[in-house]
Amino acid sequence: MAQAVRIDGKAFADGLRARIGVAAAAFLQQTARRPGLAVVLVGDDAASQVYVGAKAKACEEAGIASFEHRLPATTSSAELLTLVERLNRDPEVDGILVQLPLPQGLDEQAVIAAIDPDKDVDGFHVINAGRLAVGQTGFVPCTPLGCLMLLKDHLGDLSGQEAVVIGRSNIVGKPMAQLLTDANATVTIAHSRTKNLPEVVRRADIVVAAVGRPEMVRGDWIKPGATVIDVGINRLPPTDDKPKGRLVGDVAFGEAAEVAGAITPVPGGVGPMTIAVLLRNTLVAAHAHAGLPAPEGL
Ligand code: NDP
Repeated sequence: MAQAVRIDGKAFADGLRARIGVAAAAFLQQTARRPGLAVVLVGDDAASQVYVGAKAKACEEAGIASFEHRLPATTSSAELLTLVERLNRDPEVDGILVQLPLPQGLDEQAVIAAIDPDKDVDGFHVINAGRLAVGQTGFVPCTPLGCLMLLKDHLGDLSGQEAVVIGRSNIVGKPMAQLLTDANATVTIAHSRTKNLPEVVRRADIVVAAVGRPEMVRGDWIKPGATVIDVGINRLPPTDDKPKGRLVGDVAFGEAAEVAGAITPVPGGVGPMTIAVLLRNTLVAAHAHAGLPAPEGL
């Protein structure tokens, strides 16, 4: 029998999106324009098309203008950079998101570097990574910020908590570790070269798994009562009853839920937070561009 509290990221994200909708309506009243997010999709990657469609729909629902730019896979670096420059100058555009991965031959780092850091609502630009590293206000990548929101909502003050982040990517693991450090947790970053990973994880009051390996973190790695945030999204091979393949996280949910105090499910945990935080970052960018104070309670 599962013991752990299920942290309902979908419900939290729905609440956040509703608050964003209210704030976006107030922004429209104050400025006579909606906050705007430009999403650039190059090529026809199926998963990316789904993500971009979901982002546009979420924008519209929250009262944020969505500007979609779908470019063919044959787009050159120069063409893509020209579009980014145009969006940087466009006063209707508060946030710019270039959907990754880009097709082969396009330099992702160069494209991210071309985005105005104050429109970089994904928080991937080195300026924003640097701002996070030194404790300045900037845009924080959406997934780790969403994880932090769930943790604070569930645990309140994180001071002194032992946190283990598994994964050190620029978009999840590293910013997650920095956010937890800023929240006064004692943070360990684990990765593929970490020795005795189960033992390291067993120390943790907070575990954030961002690895990309289906159900790698087992129940007996979890300290009793720990809070487990599962960032992983992995699709298992198709079976007769799941022809599209089951979606699982990086944590063996059933086992971990027997031991943990609280855990995010996959799907329905961290995933819905990512888009909600993207909307939040766009709204914050819009306020900054309009010279208004940052909206509260987001
Ligand atoms: P990356 O592949 O960029 O990073 C994976 C990290 O896991 C690396 O640091 C790697 O270590 C580490 N790792 C790999 N194997 C092991 C292992 N056996 N033991 C310990 N650490 C290991 O992935 P991302 O950070 O981009 O994504 C991680 C997961 O989160 C994926 O499943 C992805 O789909 C999901 N994701 C979900 C999002 C959401 O919205 N919910 C958003 C973004 C990602 P090393 O550095 O040594 O190679």
